[in-house]
Amino acid sequence: MLPSTFLHEALPSRVLFGRGTLSRVSEEAQRLGMHRALVLTTPQRADQGEQVRALLGSAGSGLFTNARMHTPTDVTEQACREVTSLGCDGVVAIGGGSTTGLAKAIALRTDLPQIVVPTTYAGSEVTAILGETEGGRKVTQRTLKVLPETVIYDVDLTLGLPVFISVTSGLNAIAHAAEALYAPQVSPIVAMTAEEGVRTLVHALPHLVDDPLDVDARAEALYGAWLCGVCLGLVGMALHHKLCHVLGGTFNLPHAETHSVMLPHVLAYNLAASEEARMRLGRAMGADDPALALRNLAERLGAPTALRAIGLPEGGIAEAARIAVSSPYPNPRPFDEAAIAALLRRAWAGERPATV
Ligand code: NAD
Repeated sequence: MLPSTFLHEALPSRVLFGRGTLSRVSEEAQRLGMHRALVLTTPQRADQGEQVRALLGSAGSGLFTNARMHTPTDVTEQACREVTSLGCDGVVAIGGGSTTGLAKAIALRTDLPQIVVPTTYAGSEVTAILGETEGGRKVTQRTLKVLPETVIYDVDLTLGLPVFISVTSGLNAIAHAAEALYAPQVSPIVAMTAEEGVRTLVHALPHLVDDPLDVDARAEALYGAWLCGVCLGLVGMALHHKLCHVLGGTFNLPHAETHSVMLPHVLAYNLAASEEARMRLGRAMGADDPALALRNLAERLGAPTALRAIGLPEGGIAEAARIAVSSPYPNPRPFDEAAIAALLRRAWAGERPATV
């Protein structure tokens, strides 16, 4: 249904999508006036960084391979020292959300332009959001300073993404779109984008599990991840992202797996108060009960379905519930500590999602 009033504010973006598009990284660097770029990767993906540096030719000045999950500030400072000593005028990140996070953290401090080449479905490359960790605390901010100038989606780079990471990262992307659908700022464009993002990923992920080298499914998943990332970038998130943030930050649970476990439970709770989101998600998934359908999908994909299986001690349930209600944030359905604790207990034990 068309809302009677809405505000839609888009973010600037340049997105190159296709197969073999990484080969155009040098062209894109030139366009941004980069002559001395620092290439960023995680330690596991150093080879890919070398490849990018070679493609950049004389514009590839250095390679920094120490990107880490949750963007610790000491790593950012180390990378910034490299930027200064090499006189870099831009960064090129290739990898998942962790590597993208490092590029954004460098841009925040230096204003250097970024090219981001995502190889997972996290979606960070199209948002102006940065979460950084210092002294065990993760703090998130939104600022246009961290929005990457150019994003290169190369389907070929995702062919080797391990099935387990593909699946959990894909469910993480679906979470962005799902929560966008009941955000106070949702506009008709965001709603359309979210619905299409969910539809595309829900279709692609089972095909990826059956054949990780299925190029059409990989293309569809990456396209869906982009759409879901766009939603995350345009509207505020709610209870699901808050709970995942608490579980990741306080108990060090793995990011994408936590999203995979939590999403059906939070949707079961929240969709009871958001008919429009329930209708759109149901249409995208071809199901009457989107929360249950997502849980069934997670099982079909081999994704984790219990917090206890990914490292949350039982004693953490009460603490996570207490932290989650300690600061106010918008959510379509009111909640209190007892409701959150009950939801977390179901998720911890791996029970089916329930609208309680
Ligand atoms: P990740 O970047 O940590 O990657 C997971 C693992 O997969 C790493 O070991 C990485 O080296 C490996 N990997 C990546 N691509 C690969 C490929 N193609 N083949 C083989 N291995 C590959 O994980 P992620 O889930 O992409 O990102 C999680 C991080 O991103 C978290 O810190 C999260 O907070 C952040 N994030 C931020 C935003 C935002 O808008 N700011 C959005 C989503 C996620």
